[in-house]
Amino acid sequence: MKRKIIIIGGGASGIACALRMKMRNPELDCLILEQNPRIGKKILKTGNGKCNISNLRMASEHYNQPDFIARCLESFSVNDLVEFFRRLGLLLRADAAERLYPHSEYANTVLEVLLQALSKYRIEVLCNQRVREIQQGDGFEILTEDSRFFSDVLVIATGSLAQEKTNGYELLGNLGHSLTPLEPGLVALATKENMSSLRGIRVKCRAKLLDRGKIIHEESGEILFKEKGLSGILALNLSRHARPGNIVSLDLFPDVDILRFLEEALAEKSMDEALLGILPKMLAHEVLKRNINHDLQAIHATLRGLTFEITGKFGYEFAQITLGGVRIEEINHDFSSKKNQDLYVIGEILDVDGGCGGYNLHFAWMSGILAADAIADRFEKNL
Ligand SMILES: Cc1cc2nc3c(=O)[nH]c(=O)nc-3n(C[C@H](O)[C@H](O)[C@H](O)COP(=O)(O)OP(=O)(O)OC[C@H]3O[C@@H](n4cnc5c(N)ncnc54)[C@H](O)[C@@H]3O)c2cc1C
Repeated sequence: MKRKIIIIGGGASGIACALRMKMRNPELDCLILEQNPRIGKKILKTGNGKCNISNLRMASEHYNQPDFIARCLESFSVNDLVEFFRRLGLLLRADAAERLYPHSEYANTVLEVLLQALSKYRIEVLCNQRVREIQQGDGFEILTEDSRFFSDVLVIATGSLAQEKTNGYELLGNLGHSLTPLEPGLVALATKENMSSLRGIRVKCRAKLLDRGKIIHEESGEILFKEKGLSGILALNLSRHARPGNIVSLDLFPDVDILRFLEEALAEKSMDEALLGILPKMLAHEVLKRNINHDLQAIHATLRGLTFEITGKFGYEFAQITLGGVRIEEINHDFSSKKNQDLYVIGEILDVDGGCGGYNLHFAWMSGILAADAIADRFEKNL
């Protein structure tokens, strides 16, 4: 029996799903509907244009849904992903932190290989087709501005609000799914303190995120000071946990006995001079501004805990992901919906988010591939 499968959304998850389905069974009749004039637009933006595809240090703890992800990773590991891309002819390389990139270090290479494969497997892609309504009956009726499509199986891969517009959440709401609250994720944090003098400075440090004095998250990495907030990979990761009113406390010397170093330096120098030997100039000024009497113990405390009050986050237009989405309790481990066995939901529209380092793209590819495997299995069994 020939079954028609429609995938709404031509991003990482939707493209991976279509390709895997056709690699498993070229007989499957699969169509991608994309609202933009071209597919894979967001892939080109990823990893600062280099596309951090995944991470060899793959583990469920990097996600907000560790139990769900642990089961997915049992079925599809990072090595399986490397093999998937190898079969498509994409050579990868890992950096020192084991983040995976295309060997060319150009996101464009990833999209090029995906487009070649879509063409090779004769997967139909229709762009400028924004789905505005889905009706369920015997199968699905899918309405765009100017066309109407029918499918037996429907895959929703419409991504998130991060640097994109989508009505995918409403489409799934109308199909009976519910959402956890949505908010920008992996995004710069707005702070109460004016940081214009620190703008552009980067520091490697250990950050604690405090909620009414209690540590709610701790992580090491690099902070980039912005005029009105904190950015850099560390701040983006903190944004997955931060709420207005939280305090970010930066330990600028987590691995150095900085008190002893300063004591020795102060035998020869003034406090101003000593700080200029350990910090970028404007950051040294900030530390002094916060300790006008130049007391060594107080300065040491500031160096080990430079605090900023979070007032909010930057918006979706700056965010890499959206936190929240379709409730994971409503989705099976093969990404079929518990509401309708012919409906699959993949990628970032789900309430799954990971830290910086390739974890979100890994989830997008993985969810698309696992859904494709489940659909191909059903087809083989004629279900
Ligand atoms: C600037 C930036 C940098 C990033 N860098 C990285 C990185 O280096 N590593 C990493 O792991 N993650 C990164 N991410 C996150 C990653 O890109 C996403 O998690 C991933 O692309 C999600 O894949 P997806 O298929 O779920 O959604 P998307 O890739 O967003 O694809 C969804 C597609 O659906 C289409 N669509 C939406 N609604 C409709 C509709 N109604 N009808 C038809 N089509 C529709 C959209 O136009 C879009 O093409 C980054 C994100 C951004 C914004």
